[in-house]
Amino acid sequence: PDVVRLWSVKKTYRTAAHEVIALDGVTTGFPAGTFTAVMGPSGSGKSTLLQCAAGLDRPDGGKIVIDGTDLATLKETALTVLRRERVGFVFQAFNLVSALTAEQNVSLPLRLAGRAVASAEVRAALARVGMAERAGHRPSRLSGGEQQRVAIARALITRPAVVFADEPTGALDIKASREVLRLLRGMVDDQGQTVVMVTHDPVAAAYADRVLFLADGRLVEELNGKLDAESV
Ligand code: ADP
Ligand code: ADP
Repeated sequence: PDVVRLWSVKKTYRTAAHEVIALDGVTTGFPAGTFTAVMGPSGSGKSTLLQCAAGLDRPDGGKIVIDGTDLATLKETALTVLRRERVGFVFQAFNLVSALTAEQNVSLPLRLAGRAVASAEVRAALARVGMAERAGHRPSRLSGGEQQRVAIARALITRPAVVFADEPTGALDIKASREVLRLLRGMVDDQGQTVVMVTHDPVAAAYADRVLFLADGRLVEELNGKLDAESV
């Protein structure tokens, strides 16, 4: 079964000067326990697809179901609750809260969801990403790779149905990128997590089980199998 499904999703951005069709009828799904990469040229709609599929933005046509719930049936507050409780996010710029330690950043989604914060659970999440020793550090004292590992622990702490990652390695060097990709791969292999990642990098996409290619807001190809990064 698909954890997230989209049918004929359309999204148009209107500015005073013109209108941009960012998504032009996208139908696809993200099967439970799989790692999907979304690729395509700049401006092809990758971020918009992620934003809509994650319930961060509303489409203006089509239908999106996340974890069994049709987003069209949810008012803003209910959509916020669904996002907080069922969706994890990883961003290119890490987006950790600079005033909080690694440990406090990881526990933040639990606090926002009104759930109990067990410090052993938070420590275990940091240990899984190799950051147990740096639990008390603020982001400014961590490397980019370390910040992204904390962000991954934060994304997983609520046990979301799906994790969306928008260019998670875009700001990292090759070594830190590989660590982050191995962590994402491990979440899928060891915990059956569903992961959807936007990337420009064929080497990153090669970690995924399948690759969707977008062009001009349309799904132009779907590769069901691992991408051979050498051949791109
Ligand atoms: P990608 O992630 O593949 O680079 P995006 O989803 O960011 O593509 O953008 C798709 C198209 O929508 C582009 O033409 C972009 O300029 C436009 N777009 C994205 N966000 C906005 C916005 N907030 N307002 C106006 N146009 C936007
Ligand atoms: P990575 O390649 O894994 O991102 P770096 O080479 O950037 O790691 O950093 C190596 C080490 O230096 C890290 O363990 C980190 O703790 C430390 N470090 C990196 N950036 C900073 C910084 N701005 N302030 C303090 N320590 C840092």
